[in-house]
Amino acid sequence: MEPHIESNEMQKKVHEWISQFKEGYWEPHVMVSTLTEEVGEVARAINHIHGPKKQKEGENEVTLSDELADVLFVLICIANEHKISLSDAFEKNMRKKYGRDNDRFEKK
Ligand SMILES: [Mg+2]
Repeated sequence: MEPHIESNEMQKKVHEWISQFKEGYWEPHVMVSTLTEEVGEVARAINHIHGPKKQKEGENEVTLSDELADVLFVLICIANEHKISLSDAFEKNMRKKYGRDNDRFEKK
């Protein structure tokens, strides 16, 4: 069965990419480990920009946008493997925010 990803271009693109390889999607625990690793790389990039951990001499420059895209890729893999539409999930999540969290923060 194809993942329920018809409405999301990014999910479709990732699925097309993964589907050309015999291995297919990684095992779920491998994807979660990779997601964690990539989130760590986002933290590292943020640290290079704002924190005390500056980039080492000669270290390849990796941009925050690259690292965020790495996280997004793995996140999409997990969603695809579980046949979750991220568009639907995101809309549902935002509706929750519009309701529950509407008065949570001071408005501009
Ligand atoms: Mg990365």
